[in-house]
Amino acid sequence: MRAFKAHLRGLSPYPYKKEEAPVKLDQNESPFDLPGELKEEALGRLRAIPWNRYPEIHAESLRKRLSALLDWPEEGIVLAPGSNLLILALSLAAEEVLDLSPSFPHYAHAAKVAGTPYRAVPLGEGFSLDLKALLAAFRGGVLFLPNPHAPTGVLFPGEALRALAERAREVGGLLVVDEAYREFAGTDFRFLARENPHVALLRTFSKAFSLGGVRAGYLLGSPEVAGVVREVLPPFVLPAHTGAILEVVLENPGYVEKVVEEVVAQRERVYRELLAHPTWRPYPSRTNFLLVRTPDAEEAFRHLLSQGVLVRRQDRYPGLAGCLRVTVGRREEMDAFLRAAFGVAYA
Ligand code: PMP
Repeated sequence: MRAFKAHLRGLSPYPYKKEEAPVKLDQNESPFDLPGELKEEALGRLRAIPWNRYPEIHAESLRKRLSALLDWPEEGIVLAPGSNLLILALSLAAEEVLDLSPSFPHYAHAAKVAGTPYRAVPLGEGFSLDLKALLAAFRGGVLFLPNPHAPTGVLFPGEALRALAERAREVGGLLVVDEAYREFAGTDFRFLARENPHVALLRTFSKAFSLGGVRAGYLLGSPEVAGVVREVLPPFVLPAHTGAILEVVLENPGYVEKVVEEVVAQRERVYRELLAHPTWRPYPSRTNFLLVRTPDAEEAFRHLLSQGVLVRRQDRYPGLAGCLRVTVGRREEMDAFLRAAFGVAYA
């Protein structure tokens, strides 16, 4: 086959293998579906909109709504079916992609697909930012920085981000702070993006908003940055049904607080209980997942799965030997995880 660009040969697929298990803790989803009354309301809106018509070209009504809610200029907002697509658009547009290692694997994958030059800077001691190395490596292009960080769960300090934002301004680059897990950390980097047009934020409805299956995310940035991303994406990219569902959750966002409260409570409980584990070591997390170091990731993963608990292996990433990533689920799911986890130790 010679139809495709040479750089796409040998591209490895996104590292996800579907497995079935009663307790599903492998995709950092919300363990709670959207409340029934909101689903009903959304279904009503879906019935009312004409399915034969294209949606708005750049989701203008929703951007207006988000603009009012977030006090952010409409021209600086891009809505898309998932922040993954915004990452791909940014990677297509970027002169170069700068990444952390390890980090959310889609940044590297998107850069590869886009054929954009790519470099990654290893994390420092204790999953910290190696600010010196990052500042030296950031010479333009787009730096993707998830904060809180995936897959470690660490929250990087605001001062480090401010230094990287200043560096972005100096070199004419763009610092993209991916805030996918921000609700579980209680953080908000709008202040940084407001004062510096070389900073953009990515946000998703897939985690705290419990809409992983709906596919929706957005970018907040300067009108210039948002304009480029909007033009890289195809027109009419946000489906009408997604838009209708988003309208309902933006009008009724109260449930999000309850999701976050319960997930954070379970996260802290499981972290504390795992500290008593004889061989596994949990890392503190500001997200909806916990990174856990085990003596043997393969064995731990298989054992958990044999007990009906599906987690995600992270041991192939640099610095994460033996590590598993456990999404924080409902209380009963975390009880099942802990039973299985402690079972392995005493087996
Ligand atoms: N950024 C990070 C850091 C993530 O972990 C994820 C989801 N795993 C995404 C972005 C993608 O989010 P979406 O569902 O909006 O595509």
